[in-house]
Amino acid sequence: MYRFVFGPVLSGRLGRSLGLDLLGSKVCSMDCVYCEVGPTRVRTRERKTWVPPRELLDELAAWKAEGFEAPDVVTLGGSGEPTLNSGLAEILAGCRKILPNVPVAVLTNSTLLDDAGVRRELCAADMVLPSLDSLVESEFSAVNRPLREITAAGCGQGIRDLRREFSGRLFLEVLLCRGWNDSARNLALLQDYCADLRPDRVDVVTLSRPGTLPSAEAVDSQTLGLWRKALGQDRDGSGQNAPLPRQAQALDEARLRGALAATLARRPQTVLHLAAALGAEAAQVQRVLARMARDGEIFEAETDGQVFYSATRRP
Ligand code: SF4
Repeated sequence: MYRFVFGPVLSGRLGRSLGLDLLGSKVCSMDCVYCEVGPTRVRTRERKTWVPPRELLDELAAWKAEGFEAPDVVTLGGSGEPTLNSGLAEILAGCRKILPNVPVAVLTNSTLLDDAGVRRELCAADMVLPSLDSLVESEFSAVNRPLREITAAGCGQGIRDLRREFSGRLFLEVLLCRGWNDSARNLALLQDYCADLRPDRVDVVTLSRPGTLPSAEAVDSQTLGLWRKALGQDRDGSGQNAPLPRQAQALDEARLRGALAATLARRPQTVLHLAAALGAEAAQVQRVLARMARDGEIFEAETDGQVFYSATRRP
């Protein structure tokens, strides 16, 4: 059973992404209302070895030795904010050694980008995906619920500084929650900001899975389209075009159950997403999920007529 390696998951932004969890449990500087992982257990800005780099890299080497199909990308993220792990530089270097032909991406909520040391470490990645949901301070506080000293302006400046220092690709993410951060004021501020930042891509997304608060809801497709156009996004970001594995195969059931437990601990997913990302047959995935649900290991929740499975029960 892997503790820190999960997936691959099908990511609309990156393709088949093998996830590395640098926190091990929900440790974050924010507690976003839409978070897929659930409520933040430890809200902090303290950098430390939340997960020992050696243990994580040993797991990655073991995953590779099992002979799985190589992912499109290795993504550092997991159950919280990955830059909080003070072993970030060692982990990035280790990924390169173990999977030399696979690009490495880092997801970040941008709250530590005011730290020059963190930015320097991120420069070793191929892609950095910072998020910034609102430049209206009151919306930012309401939707992201950060530590008191963290501001939208500070995050925005940190992303600007990283843009200047980082030669890899920078994909900015804006996640819209209906009634929380989809105001005209925010759109106008982000438009100016993006024109100045010139990221390689802007991904405007909305909730597609259950979040932490039931009141956090997706915006409608019209709003999403309008924001995407205004911020210069030329793709739908839905993941429809993400590459699929070559062919589905029947997997060893114990191994499949372990992989499902690891991936569902980080992100609620449907049977079809899970099957496509893991390269497994949908019927077999469904069977194993039913067994896990019966054993109380995972839970089902319906969103927009789709059944999502998750390791945490949603409110
Ligand atoms: S969505 Fe990201 S930044 Fe927000 S609480 Fe979850 S892990 Fe932290």
